[in-house]
Amino acid sequence: TDHRLAHKRILLKLSGEALAGGAEVGIDPKVLKRMALEIGQLVGIGVQVGIVVGGGNLFRGSELQQAGLDRVAGDHMGMLATVMNGIAMRDALERNNIKTRLMSAIPMSGVVDHYDRRAAVRHLHGGDVCIFVAGTGNPFFTTDTAACLRGIEITADIVIKATKVDGIYDADPVKFPDAVKYDTLTFDEVLSKQLGVMDLTAICLCRDHNMPLRVFNMNKPGALLNLVVGEHEGTLVTR
Ligand code: UDP
Repeated sequence: TDHRLAHKRILLKLSGEALAGGAEVGIDPKVLKRMALEIGQLVGIGVQVGIVVGGGNLFRGSELQQAGLDRVAGDHMGMLATVMNGIAMRDALERNNIKTRLMSAIPMSGVVDHYDRRAAVRHLHGGDVCIFVAGTGNPFFTTDTAACLRGIEITADIVIKATKVDGIYDADPVKFPDAVKYDTLTFDEVLSKQLGVMDLTAICLCRDHNMPLRVFNMNKPGALLNLVVGEHEGTLVTR
């Protein structure tokens, strides 16, 4: 590994929406390819990359519940949606010659590996990208919480959340053009200002286990590489 790297092991959270590109639903192979190439650059300079993918581009339990389904059934569908996204992401990475392991919290023999923390750490040491899917494996959680949980488990240096905006703002920058971006925040500020960047469970996990969190714009080419070499991108949240 390169001593100039600010982060040697990262946990990257990609929302389902990020994989959908402009369409916001489904999966855009062009977006996957671009992300795969950016992730490949990190692997190339010796960064160990764990990824948690969301499923909101396909199903969200809370939305299915509003449409009349049982919440737990909806959450199971949401978790399976993340498996599909993970299969697409693995495909994109491997077609670009980036060795990838896909590990699911819900076992699905023959399709994905079952999540095993020690095996994941071994794969990361060996230079393989590890994609963690099916969230935490439990209903009523989110993939943001899964990202923080896996980040803490694999002792990542940082959890990096890719979004469509350039960090955390004091209001939604899409609705309020005069919203102000924060460069740094504490977890307690995120909680007290009710900045809806991640759910409370995710923020509290990071705070309690002193896991730094960075939110940045994945649509900005090179931003991911910039931040692993220590340049400021987006918003950094720490204790
Ligand atoms: N989900 C769940 N438990 C988890 C993670 C996810 O039940 O540990 C379900 C939940 O229904 C959620 C869906 O999977 O809405 C997709 O995940 P999420 O909404 O976090 O995806 P994202 O918004 O990141 O695309």
